[in-house]
Amino acid sequence: MIPSFTLDVSCDLARAALATLRTRAEHLTFFLAEPTTSRAARCVDEIPLEARHVDGSRLHVGLTEAGRAHVLQRATRTNQWLMEVHSHGALGDPAEFSLTDREGLAAWVPHLRWRLPLKGYIALVVGSSTVDGLTWMPDSREPLAVDSLHLGRGQNWRATGLSYETWIGEVR
Ligand SMILES: [Zn+2]
Repeated sequence: MIPSFTLDVSCDLARAALATLRTRAEHLTFFLAEPTTSRAARCVDEIPLEARHVDGSRLHVGLTEAGRAHVLQRATRTNQWLMEVHSHGALGDPAEFSLTDREGLAAWVPHLRWRLPLKGYIALVVGSSTVDGLTWMPDSREPLAVDSLHLGRGQNWRATGLSYETWIGEVR
């Protein structure tokens, strides 16, 4: 069985942000999340980003150097984990990290583990109707698949699982 992770995104901020992301391509949002069990976390707050924090000039949206410093600074002040969500828009279904996304994560996550030891990292990608994601636990180099998102009121959004399959299939 694939080791998987579930995420509670039922807080109003996360629900609103996800609804917006599903309608826009290459948009990026950061959140703070707290682990609730060894295989689950709960989204607790959004980290507002300014225009100078985001580099959307290419096909892929990412953080600028100022953006990276900004989110690291916020996460350093709490016990919570960082969680990124970006969108692929109307053509982004079924949701899966692109090659550029995976290369970005392969470079960014080890840096975070060094800067924020003992914290996990969660990355999600959304299309217009699907979601996918990976979670790096504090004690492991390899990610877990995000299995599903709890949206509240009994609603669950099951991830496609495609990114995990691709990630473990690639030699790193
Ligand atoms: Zn992407």
